[in-house]
Amino acid sequence: MSDPLHEVLEVLLALYASKGRFPRPNAVTQQQRNAVRQAGPIIVRRLVEILGDAPSRAQSNALLETIRSSNEGINKYTDENLLALARSEIPVEELKKTADDIQASDKRLPCYEGEWPTLPLPRDKLTNQLLDALAEALVKWFKPNYFTWRDPIRCTACQGETQSIGMGQPTPDDLQGGAGRVELHQCKTCRTVVRFPRDLKYLMRSRTGRCGEFANLFALFINAVGLRGRYVWNAEDHVWNEYYSPGMDRWVHLDSCENARDQHLLYDVGWGKKQSYILAFGPDGAQDVSRAYIKDFAAALPRRNRISEGELEKALADVTRARRAGLSAERLAALAREDEGERRFIYGEQLEDTEDLPARQSGTAEWKAARGEDGKHSS
Ligand SMILES: [Zn+2]
Repeated sequence: MSDPLHEVLEVLLALYASKGRFPRPNAVTQQQRNAVRQAGPIIVRRLVEILGDAPSRAQSNALLETIRSSNEGINKYTDENLLALARSEIPVEELKKTADDIQASDKRLPCYEGEWPTLPLPRDKLTNQLLDALAEALVKWFKPNYFTWRDPIRCTACQGETQSIGMGQPTPDDLQGGAGRVELHQCKTCRTVVRFPRDLKYLMRSRTGRCGEFANLFALFINAVGLRGRYVWNAEDHVWNEYYSPGMDRWVHLDSCENARDQHLLYDVGWGKKQSYILAFGPDGAQDVSRAYIKDFAAALPRRNRISEGELEKALADVTRARRAGLSAERLAALAREDEGERRFIYGEQLEDTEDLPARQSGTAEWKAARGEDGKHSS
């Protein structure tokens, strides 16, 4: 089978069969996937939409609500009072030493050079290389030195599993700790309600949580040291961060739960996670970054069934337009150059998993297996 069109049709038949329309003719080979990649995923994406079931309005609305609330949620990461509080929590000398240790080891970053300025970093004295070294030092320090992993919330009465039942009112105690929001979890066995305050000030006291709390507080810390951060949401129940690297001319992955920097295929290849939507939210807009984290994007297309691609694209573009309204022409041009660099990374380069990517570190073995994140489920 050398005819590319024939190859594309084979893949489409397999996708069609995967929707249960008729028995799967045969497994899709890597060669066929490569052919589809060359033939243009946009065509395939549209055909998947036509062949697949139309997303339900409820599913689409739920995703639009996630976009709305995630976009609203990032405003707190540039709040001057919270940033000042975060800076008082970050041991600058320790971070510098961590970076120096990394540079003295065989894991030396090629990007690192120059002297450390004092925090908060003066923009004019900051080299591009220092930004990357700082991001590396910050993500290596955060866990376990500052923040520790807390297992899925257990019942305080019987240690049974709990499920989220929404938000509750903060008590005077919670408010004093800085928690304006309190998550309520109910025990599936004895029905006891466990209260779990989630708030940046509170998290700087409790210093414990799951990936949601890690990514939430780390987003603030990224900005606090002078980097520009983004909050990244994944439809398969994980969140992480990114920082902008002028030296690398793109946004770079940071996962404070996993001490990971610039390991875009950590979840896909390392954890064996089957991902669909990965969306990044920052002060200058929202972006679908799924391709930056999924090695075989064509194979992920059938999983993207919550919203039409056109509606998703428009919703994210609307967020970006609103966030950039009123910026100077100079700033808009700079952001457009960044967008171009990001597009080159997402669409241009073939993602390579050259290094050994680890299975998930955070959480218990049982919990990871239940979530399909123990690296044992990849095909
Ligand atoms: Zn219980």
